[in-house]
Amino acid sequence: AEVEALLRGRIRDVPDHPEPGIVFKDITPLLADPEAFTALTDALAAFSIEHGATKVVGLEARGFILAAPVAVRAGLGFVPVRKAGKLPGATLAQAYELEYGSAEMEIHAEDLSGSDRVLVIDDVLATGGTAEAALRLIRRSGAQVAGLAVLMELGFLPGRARVLPALDGAPYQALLTV
Ligand code: IMP
Repeated sequence: AEVEALLRGRIRDVPDHPEPGIVFKDITPLLADPEAFTALTDALAAFSIEHGATKVVGLEARGFILAAPVAVRAGLGFVPVRKAGKLPGATLAQAYELEYGSAEMEIHAEDLSGSDRVLVIDDVLATGGTAEAALRLIRRSGAQVAGLAVLMELGFLPGRARVLPALDGAPYQALLTV
């Protein structure tokens, strides 16, 4: 509860970003505060160890900032899920819908094996479309899903209901719900 209050106090609301009517949750004040960033990293590293993860996957771009220190802290490998066209090697690709149109994400298939248990990390769960696509990508790679962890869930959107089927019983944690 103490960690939750520390994290919550370092999220900035930015009205009308990126469009009028949207209140953007900005995590940069949290990243700039070493106490809060360390507490966040420690909480996510504990979750990854508790659930037997062997790899931490971060989702471009803010997911990278959170997942990389978690991987180091937990003694696990880090694997990026990137927007299509960025990774140089052989990739697996997964399409997903955006508010307007669709996008594609990719992962280096050879960086995961069938014996890996993967924890997916992102900053914010909104509609859940991004995390759902990432979980599908992990399963298609042949690796197991150890869980999904986010800093913040937007509780007024049905993101949680959307990712639960893709988790198929694997654990989900949101450190904060707004
Ligand atoms: P979803 O696919 O609708 O769940 O959107 C989640 C993705 O959009 C995540 O990768 C987030 O980084 C980003 N996102 C959506 N809303 C916010 C926000 O208010 N602050 C920061 N990132 C957000």
